[in-house]
Amino acid sequence: MAYKFIDNYRERGARKQLVEVLRKKGIEDEHVLEAISKVPRHFFFDETFWTQAYRDIAFPIGEGQTISQPYTVAYQTQLLHIKKGDKVLEIGTGSGYQTCILLELGAKVYTIERQQKLYERTIKVLPHMGYKARFFLGDGSKGVAEHGPYHKIIVTAGAPTVPEVLLQQLKIGGLLVIPVGDENTQKMVTVLKVGEHDYEKVVLDTFRFVPLVGDKAW
Ligand code: SAM
Repeated sequence: MAYKFIDNYRERGARKQLVEVLRKKGIEDEHVLEAISKVPRHFFFDETFWTQAYRDIAFPIGEGQTISQPYTVAYQTQLLHIKKGDKVLEIGTGSGYQTCILLELGAKVYTIERQQKLYERTIKVLPHMGYKARFFLGDGSKGVAEHGPYHKIIVTAGAPTVPEVLLQQLKIGGLLVIPVGDENTQKMVTVLKVGEHDYEKVVLDTFRFVPLVGDKAW
């Protein structure tokens, strides 16, 4: 892919329109909307596809994977209630777009991807854009225990169940946001860790994610 890092009035205007689309679809958190208005999503697309970058759609990024739909990114991020300085583990770096949104909100982001080509691309593209995260290559279904516990964990691929090991890597008071279901559709699930072995689980709306593939997943 040929990347170009030019952000002009056309792309900035398209981002503003995208924010309005997300607002109409029910995204209310102004911090999340502001982050969406700041991150140049077209930087994750080949220039040929820039016209697609601010449509509210998922889009192929190679290796059979997708950059998530902006609504999905905004929905999951809103659920996380990010506070500045929160230590966040993201499972499924993909393009790195969600990573940038979390960084714009002031989170310290640890992000893991299992596809080597995607990992190699993001470790170059994000620093070039001025975003600093800790990147890992490997099976995120087991988390990244050596840097835990985390305030928040976000999983951006669909899991068959909630991996117990991820709950162990949450701080008490910490929150996991994960899509859980079969290969076709998943329900967004939040799990709040209220005590060492006590959790409050909430099941929300239906989405369609690529599968979380790994030891504690598909
Ligand atoms: N957050 C991403 C973005 O903004 O582009 C979404 C990417 S895509 C919907 C989900 C990603 O999860 C894919 O890149 C896929 O390779 C990755 N993935 C799937 N299973 C994984 C695992 N066990 N560990 C780490 N990454 C995984």
